[in-house]
Amino acid sequence: MKTKYEYKKTWKKKNPKKFRKSKNKENRKYFSKYPERKRFAQKVHLLLKKGVIKKQPCMICGSIKQVEATTLSGNPYSPTWLCDRCNKEIHRVIRQKKLVLGVV
Ligand SMILES: [Zn+2]
Repeated sequence: MKTKYEYKKTWKKKNPKKFRKSKNKENRKYFSKYPERKRFAQKVHLLLKKGVIKKQPCMICGSIKQVEATTLSGNPYSPTWLCDRCNKEIHRVIRQKKLVLGVV
């Protein structure tokens, strides 16, 4: 029996166009929810392209895989570079803290 993950993987291979479309849809949904993150990502992308800033390894674990500029610092000129795993971890901690403080 195939796992959900394996199924998704083969589906991706068989339907690259559909996959890209669905990914775009996801992205649009995400960015319409967080317009400031879109602006930030665009700015960082531009600065990277111009060579003003350079992509850095993850600030927490030093990994160079799946590292993204995050909005944590709020400054596109010195974004907080985090890998996917650490980024998720940080957001999990933030969410928990908010729950404890009763913000959410
Ligand atoms: Zn990391």
